[in-house]
Amino acid sequence: ACTVACKSEHDIPIGVNRTHVKYIEKGVFPKSKREFSVHRCNHCADAPCVEICPTTALYSRSDGIVDFDNERCIGCKSCMQACPYDALYIDPDTNTAAKCNYCAHRLDGGYEPACVIVCPVEAIVSGDLNDSKSKISQLVSNEQVSVRKPEKMTVPNLYYIDGTNEMLDPNATKTELNYVWTDQAKGVGHYAKFANERVSESNTDNLLIQLAMENSFKSGESIDQRAIDNVAKEIQKETDYNNNRRVYDSPSKGVLWGWEVPAYVWTKAIATGTFLSMMISHYFHRNLEQSAQLYGLLTSLIFMIVTGVLLIMDLDRPDRFLYVLFRPQWKSWLVRGAYIITGFGSLITLKLLLVFYNFQNMLLLDFLTSVFAIFGASYTAFLFAQARARDLWQNPYTNALHMVIHALLAGSTMILYLIKGSPNFMINIVPTLVCLNLIFIVKEIFFHHNTHDTKRSVNLILHGYYSKYFFTGITLGNIIPIAIILLDPSSLIIASAFATIGIFFTEFVRIRVPQLIALS
Ligand code: SF4
Repeated sequence: ACTVACKSEHDIPIGVNRTHVKYIEKGVFPKSKREFSVHRCNHCADAPCVEICPTTALYSRSDGIVDFDNERCIGCKSCMQACPYDALYIDPDTNTAAKCNYCAHRLDGGYEPACVIVCPVEAIVSGDLNDSKSKISQLVSNEQVSVRKPEKMTVPNLYYIDGTNEMLDPNATKTELNYVWTDQAKGVGHYAKFANERVSESNTDNLLIQLAMENSFKSGESIDQRAIDNVAKEIQKETDYNNNRRVYDSPSKGVLWGWEVPAYVWTKAIATGTFLSMMISHYFHRNLEQSAQLYGLLTSLIFMIVTGVLLIMDLDRPDRFLYVLFRPQWKSWLVRGAYIITGFGSLITLKLLLVFYNFQNMLLLDFLTSVFAIFGASYTAFLFAQARARDLWQNPYTNALHMVIHALLAGSTMILYLIKGSPNFMINIVPTLVCLNLIFIVKEIFFHHNTHDTKRSVNLILHGYYSKYFFTGITLGNIIPIAIILLDPSSLIIASAFATIGIFFTEFVRIRVPQLIALS
């Protein structure tokens, strides 16, 4: 009833919920029992969703409610990566994030939240925790209460009386694919976006002919190939529309940051790395010729533009991408990153013009652009760390350093191309970078198992579906380059090109796998 009252109060579309009741079963029949717990936003005092939101679409009110404004949301899904409780979803009608807002509009009018009113047994109690005389304060003081995932340091304001570990910790129970009441996991709701993958299972030819016959019966026209093609086109149009309705809901919202995010980390590494390698070569080896500088800067600029395009592509509201720059929430690394890459792109463009007109002595500009390049290569590690729901990403400084190594490795391919005939300068740099890259990967996989979710991520990386991508990354990015360098040092550029391709696989696995871990 609380779930339905909430849906009704907020007019929530099919397939998503702001509050849901989790069922768990314990014991072995006949000594078995079922427990229920209501899950929703905890209105955390230290809310990671608010911290990561780039446009203040999520914000904390003075009364402690964490509310949202879907007019500002750009659909970046960062809040969903940050919330350790799986409380947010993307509204399939507006393509913006949404969650329980404690019925703030009802509270402002002097009413209690809809779920509280509808509950027949007062299982949900709302009120002011700061008022020691309120019923909720009394309950919290006198009963045995617990919160979900206290180790995430979000200071949740939702307490469970006699909450068991199995209720509150998703790792304490096994997740079943089939539910008690429904088989919906296979067709609608959470997995609706995979429906098109199952189209091949249906007898499409028969269906098309049948629909064409119906149309011809209505219109009186004969059935020919064109009539059948028209039906096929109509169905395709509808399928396209339905596929745009991305549905995210518990228990698993699937992979929120798709291939665009590792792709943008990769193109960003090439853009920033090319510039950094150019600077290393220019100042520590020998001056680059004007044409080499122009080619290098152009490469950097093109890859930075591609980075921006990929970033926008990943938004569920790409039409609002400029909000990141013009409605910024400065604590978000998404905003800081957007300004860093915009600054880097502008400086590269300026340098490109100056080099084109043969200006000399650009030490200050080169220094400033290099600083932007280093931050540009590494800021994503801090964005990932703000995604507090993903344990494997909670190592910002190590990951930032790893990303700089990736950038230098990717940039070395370009610089080897630009300074043809002088590979001696790089003969030590490329193998060192390849080895450092391998050391960082080994460290992440074998020395980073401090939480259950991290262990599961590492286990999935090594033994799960994505292990093939992980080992492809190791092979392309490390083993083949080392073998090439050992066998034929003059083929350094080929070794470095392989290493650059390997980086994509490494980032792909590192970004994708932690998103597979269920949060609620
Ligand atoms: Fe709610 Fe999650 Fe944000 Fe906490 S982090 S306030 S539970 S949406």
